[in-house]
Amino acid sequence: MIIQPRIRGFVCVTAHPEGCAANVREQIATVKADGPIANAPKRVLIIGASTGYGLATRIAAAFGGGARTIGVAFERPGAADKPASAGWYNTAAFHREARKAGIDAWSLNGDAFSEQMKNDVIALAKEKMGGKFDLVVYSLASPRRTDAAGTLWKSCLKPIGKSFDALHLDTDKHEVVDVHIDPASDEEILGTVKVMGGEDLDLWVKALEDADLLAQGVQVVAYDYIGPECTHPIYHDGTIGTAKKHLYNTAKAIGERLKPIGGSAFLSVNKAVVTQASSAIPAVPLYISILFKVMKEMGLHEGCIEQMNRLLRTKLRGDGLPEFDAQGRIRMDDWEMREDVQARTNEFWQNINTQTLRSNSDYSGYEVEFLKLFGFGVKGVDYSADTNPDIPYEG
Ligand code: NAD
Repeated sequence: MIIQPRIRGFVCVTAHPEGCAANVREQIATVKADGPIANAPKRVLIIGASTGYGLATRIAAAFGGGARTIGVAFERPGAADKPASAGWYNTAAFHREARKAGIDAWSLNGDAFSEQMKNDVIALAKEKMGGKFDLVVYSLASPRRTDAAGTLWKSCLKPIGKSFDALHLDTDKHEVVDVHIDPASDEEILGTVKVMGGEDLDLWVKALEDADLLAQGVQVVAYDYIGPECTHPIYHDGTIGTAKKHLYNTAKAIGERLKPIGGSAFLSVNKAVVTQASSAIPAVPLYISILFKVMKEMGLHEGCIEQMNRLLRTKLRGDGLPEFDAQGRIRMDDWEMREDVQARTNEFWQNINTQTLRSNSDYSGYEVEFLKLFGFGVKGVDYSADTNPDIPYEG
């Protein structure tokens, strides 16, 4: 079939297998250009491995460090007349490239929140990995979670205590619009903590501990975002930020528990990038468009792969110990949060409107990145060609 983008608000409901494969190859090339990663982890579990930060971590670990990886994701397969989700195509492409390079990798598609998936990963690891995990990466972004008791929890992106009025990007109309979001109810706050907080990470680590699958010195890392003050009401101080605080406290407790095996658990605060998750957050796509302009002008621009390549090379392990801030977090948002970057971003933010959208931000760059998430607008891909959407999930 001929696969074209079909955008519905902040998601694209189609994806292109060739475009996604080209993206994966480009990410691999970025990592390989920097040569092998010294002291890289050798057996890595990535929970949320098919898109965004999780996929980039997997690529950096596998193609930079030669790690064997198990990736968990929840993606939609294709059919003869229906494209799969982008993460499905990304994973299929990752496996094709890994196989060519002689790198071992396995993927499981299903609900990471379920006990079944934890058991499946443990069985797979015992059968195939030839050793214990030395790195566990938690990179889930999900709107819902069914817990072990069968309760369905929903996460939301809302402020807490008072409403949030801000500027937002209407990507259908290419306009800067006002957005008003009422504060979350207690139930919504709890739901977001249940989905995006640390409870499930703790269950994962406990399951892996019980199965004796955590190596001496294992590192457990989950991803966080802090961002500038203009996004704090909706992010850092909102429902998602509350969940991230829970994740932080959980990581602290896990770290204490892992001390006897020399292990540690912590958050890496990553920079704002265009992903399926971030495009759903009010105000954030507009902030990202401005940030991209500033960071590109300053020669500091990074996407997921540059971030995760740098994380694995210089911050997580590299040639020394992880580099932490005063709260024990890795700061991959170090360049984003630089005073000069934030001052310039804020200048543009103060003067952003529909008329200045193209001059005061890199909205064009944002649009390109957004389409790329789904394998569209990628150089060298013939979008008029008849394409088989039903690519098997290999590995
Ligand atoms: P993403 O939407 O690109 O990736 C989410 C991943 O989670 C996918 O692999 C998806 O398949 C998987 N997933 C979702 N629900 C699942 C389920 N039930 N079972 C198994 N897999 C499931 O998101 P992202 O932006 O890469 O976010 C990953 C993490 O990074 C999140 O914790 C997010 O808060 C954090 N982060 C994101 C940004 C950003 O700007 N995008 C910045 C800093 C931190």
